[in-house]
Amino acid sequence: MVLQRKLYCVFALVVCAFGCVMGTGAMAADAAPPSCPGNPDALGVSRVIKVGPDEYARLGLMQYRHTLPLNDHEVVLTFDDGPLPPYTTRVLAALSHECVKATFFMVGRMAAAYPKEVRLVASMGHTIGSHSQNHPLHFNALSEAAAERELVTGMQSVKTALAGDGALAPFFRVPGLGRTKAFEKFAQSDGVVVWSADTVADDWTPISASQVVHRAVSRLEAKGKGILLLHDIQARTALALPVLLRELKAHGFKIVQVVPDGVAPVPKPGEPGVMVASAPAKPAWPRVFANETEMLSALAKQQADARAAYLIGLARSHGDRKSGRRVHTATLAKGAHRGTVQ
Ligand SMILES: [Zn+2]
Repeated sequence: MVLQRKLYCVFALVVCAFGCVMGTGAMAADAAPPSCPGNPDALGVSRVIKVGPDEYARLGLMQYRHTLPLNDHEVVLTFDDGPLPPYTTRVLAALSHECVKATFFMVGRMAAAYPKEVRLVASMGHTIGSHSQNHPLHFNALSEAAAERELVTGMQSVKTALAGDGALAPFFRVPGLGRTKAFEKFAQSDGVVVWSADTVADDWTPISASQVVHRAVSRLEAKGKGILLLHDIQARTALALPVLLRELKAHGFKIVQVVPDGVAPVPKPGEPGVMVASAPAKPAWPRVFANETEMLSALAKQQADARAAYLIGLARSHGDRKSGRRVHTATLAKGAHRGTVQ
């Protein structure tokens, strides 16, 4: 995970999330009865909610008082930081298998690097929002002008990648949950809805895919409903999603899609199916893990390497290798590696 965090920085993606509201009622429209080819037991989409800046300025109970008007056991799935093949494409495949629609908050630089994946997300009828241009690690430390530039250029990059093949919703999730009142005011004046989330599954931290599923389901059960924040650039999330969707169905949850108040995204007939990349012959970034065991093995090696480097550094600093080992073990036990939302 340490390695993955470093890689995030290299790609200038990291940290995400949030939302907030100010609105009252959203316009809701019943979705057509779900029909999922090849999967009669699919989770599907139970209904669609239309959200516009006139009703909402900010949403998500992690940071705000208001959120989407969800009923008990209704869930809105959101994915941040992408697109990034092969993980985004695996996420799309899992969603497609269950005929589920989600909202993707894309990073402008990622959209520019992977425009085909941006158009693929749109072609499958998902909602696309923005997650800034460069995903600054400390968004709330930016000047007002820089933060506004991140919003404007980030949205423009996604629009450029879409090339007219889909619509960008006026939805924005602040990287790293680093909101400021000045930025929120700017977004509102620009007609952009700022999203937070209601809950997370810690999928940016070094946990297994199984733990992602467990945390998502248990937290949604505790809250009864909510906007779930996930990351489509994470291997563990791509591995977890097929199981997570099955578990949500088993626990009686229903999926609600959120679309901008206006033209809703509609899947285009005749679009090519989702292509899932196979594992490369040589190690490469992003890594493609064939299964959870392989991913956990790689993570364990990364953590072991990090632990060894830490102990060596500590021993050099204090001239006491044993003392360093005790300190590090205690630090790990406290979960010090768990950071903020990516
Ligand atoms: Zn992010």
